[in-house]
Amino acid sequence: MEAKKAPGLVSRMFGTGEVSLLDTKTGYRYSLVAYCPKDGDYSYVDRVDRFEKAGKSLKTVTFKCPTCSTTFEVPKTKIMVI
Ligand SMILES: [Zn+2]
Repeated sequence: MEAKKAPGLVSRMFGTGEVSLLDTKTGYRYSLVAYCPKDGDYSYVDRVDRFEKAGKSLKTVTFKCPTCSTTFEVPKTKIMVI
């Protein structure tokens, strides 16, 4: 499956503090993903910071590239789902 931009889904995941989201219609579970700034590979969530308040919503998400092991953050607008 190709990663896609889905600002609505990304916002929901940030809001609920979850890094994956089940589509109850299809049974598919979406995960946050971003392109590695060095080699452009899909990178998955390495760790998250959550707000103490606001229902534990996500503050920052750090991704880790499976190819070069770089950890990085990207603006929310660059985060995709896969
Ligand atoms: Zn990389």
